[in-house]
Amino acid sequence: MALGTPSTRTDRARTVRDLLASGERSYSFEFMAPKTEKGERTLWNAIRRVEAVAPTFVSVTYGAGGSSREGTVRATERIATDTTLTPVAHLTAVDHSLTELRNVIGQYADAGIRNMLALRGDPPGDPLGDWVAHPQGVTYAAELVRLIKESGDFCVGVAAYPEMHPRSTDWDTDVRHFVDKCRAGADFAITQMFFNAEDYLRLRDRVAAASCATPIIPEIMPVTNVRQIERFAQLSNAAFPAELANRILAVKDDPAAVRSIGIEYATELCARLMAEDIPGLHFITLNHSTATLEIYENLGLHQRS
Ligand code: FAD
Repeated sequence: MALGTPSTRTDRARTVRDLLASGERSYSFEFMAPKTEKGERTLWNAIRRVEAVAPTFVSVTYGAGGSSREGTVRATERIATDTTLTPVAHLTAVDHSLTELRNVIGQYADAGIRNMLALRGDPPGDPLGDWVAHPQGVTYAAELVRLIKESGDFCVGVAAYPEMHPRSTDWDTDVRHFVDKCRAGADFAITQMFFNAEDYLRLRDRVAAASCATPIIPEIMPVTNVRQIERFAQLSNAAFPAELANRILAVKDDPAAVRSIGIEYATELCARLMAEDIPGLHFITLNHSTATLEIYENLGLHQRS
């Protein structure tokens, strides 16, 4: 999509792969499936606000944070049919047989969805608990990439970890398994959230050193309240910078000041990354688009729409 041109139905026929291959930067937003009717309204308010800035794509997480898988499929289908946005559908292997996975892929295809994010997923309940594959399912994301690719003409993304996947024991094996996903057919990757640009850049160098050129899009999530400091570390294994934690804790009784520091830090992180020839930015919204849209505006990106 050219700068200054809002996305159109024709742009939607393009895949993330085509867009990145053209050298354009991708700007995208991630939502979660709603759990309640109120959550559904909040989600759709956020989606409509994001639609106004014509991002490259939006994605909806699959079965994460206690949301239902049916809710994910419904929300993703509705984005495909009722908005001008390009949806990227997340899919995880958790508790699914191959037949069930093929059914979900078929549902996405029927709704005209061409981009998917293939993930192994975490065990329900305790993300660091024992991973048990479905007896008729798949064990690693690379197998899911192959399954989706065999099922049709899909563009497939995978996950990457600037601070290494929590289950990996060393960088060499972590990068080797990432490269396996790319060799299985992944067209692009999105990282786990992180707070230090150097972690992303080091991962990118390690992957390039393994002769893998798959574009890796950094994922950004601004801290907007004090509780998130602990929650972030639990969810993502991301090291929370002590300097940022101290700045936030110094104003912990002033929610507006906490939010403003979080947005300023995330804006600076994005600006630092944008100076490094990144393929795009992927913003986690937690279904509240305001903070991420503020960062978008701080970076001058709203002028694209
Ligand atoms: P894999 O790539 O399969 O890797 C998992 C672990 O297994 C790694 O340690 C890897 O090194 C290792 N491994 C891989 N292949 C092999 C092999 N052949 N032999 C031995 N070890 C191997 N979770 C959700 O539930 N829903 C979502 O919507 C969701 N969205 C996400 C979006 C992004 C951008 C990211 C970064 C993560 C997301 N997650 C989501 C979380 C993700 O499911 C977890 O991080 C999960 O633990 C790993 O998924 P993966 O696809 O990276 O797994």
